[in-house]
Amino acid sequence: MDAACAVKHSVVASPLGQIRISGCQQGLHEIKLPAAGPPEAPARPEPPGRPAETVKPLTECAAWLHAYFQEPAALRELPLPALHHPVFLQDSFTGQVLRKLLEAVKFGEVVSYQQLAALAGHPKAARAVGSAMRSNPVPILVPCHRVVCSGGAVGNYSGGLGVKEWLLDHEGSLAAPPAPAGGSRLARTRCGALRGSSSSECAGGD
Ligand SMILES: [Zn+2]
Repeated sequence: MDAACAVKHSVVASPLGQIRISGCQQGLHEIKLPAAGPPEAPARPEPPGRPAETVKPLTECAAWLHAYFQEPAALRELPLPALHHPVFLQDSFTGQVLRKLLEAVKFGEVVSYQQLAALAGHPKAARAVGSAMRSNPVPILVPCHRVVCSGGAVGNYSGGLGVKEWLLDHEGSLAAPPAPAGGSRLARTRCGALRGSSSSECAGGD
């Protein structure tokens, strides 16, 4: 998000509500999930933004999100938008972990914080992985919702635990549908395996 970026914005309708995306010619900057809470009234699916008003990474991101929600089998064939948020431009731990997650953990899979730490080459850094998840600027695309506790709890998610459960259920990663509002069959606690850690959250919340 340096000054050279001419950032464009777009909105993608989804079963979770309106998802706001932003990016420049060089790549996607952010995906913002709807605020936690009951989904807004379902909006009509919109075609990806018109070329005159958008940039290629946003068009690709909108198409990718549309497929994610409507036709996951098509995801394999779709290009991933380039990423241009600063976290992906530096060779930081957070950038490394997020890239590894994007590359290694596909639709329908889950990984624990510890496993992801090991995949990223830092097997003792499970807590730092939790922090990295909180810094994810592009949730869903970089699938921080697929990072769960090794003890089986879903962990937390700043988009709302209900959203994390919805996404995992959408991917077939929950054994049963999420409980109705007001209760969850899954522990809402932080990861027991991360002793004393508060790092099990994702994408910016606390
Ligand atoms: Zn940019």
